Amino acid sequence: MRDWKRLTGTVADVDVEWDVPASRLNTFRVGGTVRCVAHPRTEGSLKNLLKALKAEGLPWSILGNGSNVLLPDGVWDHMVVLLDRCSGRLEWPQRDGRSGTVRVGAGMKLAQLLRMCVRHGWSGLEFLAGIPATVGGAVIMNAGTRTGSVEDVLERVRFLDETLDERTATRSELSMGYRSGGIPGGAVVLEAEFRVVAEHPRLIAQKIAGLMRERHRSQPWRWPSAGCVFKNPPGRSAGALIDQAGFKGYRVGDAEVSLLHANWIVNRGRATRDDVLCVIRTVRDGVRDRFGVDLELEVRVLE
Ligand SMILES: Cc1cc2nc3c(=O)[nH]c(=O)nc-3n(C[C@H](O)[C@H](O)[C@H](O)COP(=O)(O)OP(=O)(O)OC[C@H]3O[C@@H](n4cnc5c(N)ncnc54)[C@H](O)[C@@H]3O)c2cc1C
Repeated sequence: MRDWKRLTGTVADVDVEWDVPASRLNTFRVGGTVRCVAHPRTEGSLKNLLKALKAEGLPWSILGNGSNVLLPDGVWDHMVVLLDRCSGRLEWPQRDGRSGTVRVGAGMKLAQLLRMCVRHGWSGLEFLAGIPATVGGAVIMNAGTRTGSVEDVLERVRFLDETLDERTATRSELSMGYRSGGIPGGAVVLEAEFRVVAEHPRLIAQKIAGLMRERHRSQPWRWPSAGCVFKNPPGRSAGALIDQAGFKGYRVGDAEVSLLHANWIVNRGRATRDDVLCVIRTVRDGVRDRFGVDLELEVRVLE
């Protein structure tokens, strides 16, 4: 076991939890125990913590809402760093403007951001409705749907680069693509700015409600999951390929290819990460054998 207590004792303004069930940290509700979960209370303490981790060569990962990750089974001798206590602020455009940018901390959940957009009458981010992410996770993944992606509304992002220097990049400086935010590897997103336009709160709320109805009709929201498991190959639908290869309902332990949406694996009870990985491997091999298509994972498997 690594000596996390000594390290965390040297950094001020960081709340620490020990031996946290991984199921609390990801929407799949799988995984074992995470040795150490840190919540820096300020950007300064976040930076000091990461500096100390790097100096000691200790393994760490930033997590948002854990809605696109598979965490290890067993004891994970690792530090998960959450931005929920240091990066949740929000700044609106000027009141008299018809359009502008909202500046939002990476630790804020999209659901909260959207509630505030409705209350303050700012439109443009409705396409994010139902994506159970933080702002940071949504930027890293360039999250989106057929109705829009983060890249369509992102104006600017502030982040710590790999050497922990603070940097700002405009949308045009990032090579964003399908489910890829183009943020340099190893960077930590601190804040994003999104374009919004003034709109009547009732119209924004109606649009969000319509998108949520459509989601609940076509996606298996009853069971824990990480949403789509594979990226869509160019010009094709991963879900359709998996369905046509006969995998709907395919199950290992409690991990099951959803009957409603074949690109979702759902946790029907006590699925382990190994169960999910086993389903992933079998589906991938089956689709390759049947259609000659290599499905690429959208979900990130953390080691
Ligand atoms: C029910 C459901 C529906 C979904 N629907 C959609 C959808 O419609 N469209 C879509 O695109 N996705 C969807 N997803 C997947 C998921 O919500 C997105 O990929 C989302 O962007 C992940 O955000 P997160 O905050 O949960 O990130 P996490 O899953 O916690 O992390 C994802 C990756 O981002 C990194 N990361 C997170 N925050 C930061 C940060 N601040 N700085 C640096 N790195 C960071 C993590 O290290 C990890 O590598 C869905 C998931 C579920 C469970």
